[in-house]
Amino acid sequence: MAKVIAVNAGSSSLKFQLFEMNDESVITSGVVERIGFEDAIFTIKYSGKKEVKTLPIKDHKVAVHLLLDTLIENKIVDSLEDIKGVGHRVVQGGAYYDKSVVINDQVVAHIDELKKLAPLHNPAHLTGYYAFKEAIPSAGAVAVFDTAFHQTLEPRCFIYPIPYKFYEEHNVRKYGAHGTSHYYVSQRAIDLLGNPEESKIIVAHLGAGGSLSAVKNGKSLNTSMGFTPLAGIMMGTRSGDLDPSVLDYLIEVVGMDMKELITMLNKESGLLGVSGVSSDFRDIQQAANEGNERAQLAIDIFYRRVIAYIGRYFVALGGVDAICFTAGIGENSAFARKGIIDLLTDAFGIVLDDDANENGSGERLITKPESKVKIYVIPTNEELVIARDTNRLLEL
Ligand code: ADP
Repeated sequence: MAKVIAVNAGSSSLKFQLFEMNDESVITSGVVERIGFEDAIFTIKYSGKKEVKTLPIKDHKVAVHLLLDTLIENKIVDSLEDIKGVGHRVVQGGAYYDKSVVINDQVVAHIDELKKLAPLHNPAHLTGYYAFKEAIPSAGAVAVFDTAFHQTLEPRCFIYPIPYKFYEEHNVRKYGAHGTSHYYVSQRAIDLLGNPEESKIIVAHLGAGGSLSAVKNGKSLNTSMGFTPLAGIMMGTRSGDLDPSVLDYLIEVVGMDMKELITMLNKESGLLGVSGVSSDFRDIQQAANEGNERAQLAIDIFYRRVIAYIGRYFVALGGVDAICFTAGIGENSAFARKGIIDLLTDAFGIVLDDDANENGSGERLITKPESKVKIYVIPTNEELVIARDTNRLLEL
């Protein structure tokens, strides 16, 4: 019985899901947060239980040992050797990887080299990789890249209209992100459409981070994130697309430097920046209900940024068979889905099924049969893709 663990090592966190690959069931899942702090938080779910501990966790190595010791102590696995594969989510694979790969020295060197493009993430992924390699030397390791699915973008979609030498000499181009999610959700949509030979799908991954993609016949045609995840739609704390002249203006007028500006655009903008309330859509919705005008404005901008990409991708695809909502907001907020869909209704001939939107749960169609475009809610499952790729590539 092959067990595979899907790992997402962030700069101060480590998320995991352990799968039994025979039936793809999740044996245990959880997260270590605030790694590097005295009050790190370890949360683990198994056998219908959830345990949360607060304790000092110095680094990722300690976090991995804590996790693996917990698996043994609670008899979640009999022996660590039962875990045959470790699948690592890697944010940036650059132009090197259009699919998942078994990690070897060259892959490590590439992930390390690409830390220029993902300074917070890629080093953390390698730290996670080394920690698991040391703890379970018998297990194989696979890298699953967030950028891989978008490697099918053609140059006319990924080249920025700036002097070409910056692409040639410095690899400045669109890479996209959330690829594993866009892949999973678009594949599910194709399945739900009855596996037609040709398909035109728009995926709206709306979480704390958010991106949209246009997927033609199963391949990513375009996506809203860019050189980094800062581009595209408005997000929880990220601005998304912005006229770069604003930066020069703020340098001149406010005296901010580039580092401060990039931090502002990544951490203090988006829903949080406009509303001044929170980056969490639930808080903003509540504030707007209570009459907070800036919260309402943040929601209005968010919707318009999303429909702008849907419109763009409708044209790029030459139509659309299905629009799919996924991630924290996309899966859970009937309010946000309705707000966005209402703005599309006239142009697209959408007939929303309010009952399915509001009262349904999990993967489902939320439009009526007479709707010209189908709209699905499809809970994403990046961990399952990571586990499947790991299982397949290691031939477990
Ligand atoms: P991440 O990008 O970190 O993976 P998630 O996909 O988990 O983010 O999305 C987190 C966001 O989803 C939260 O910030 C919150 O705004 C939103 N969210 C989660 N549940 C709901 C809900 N029931 N209603 C509205 N928004 C929700």
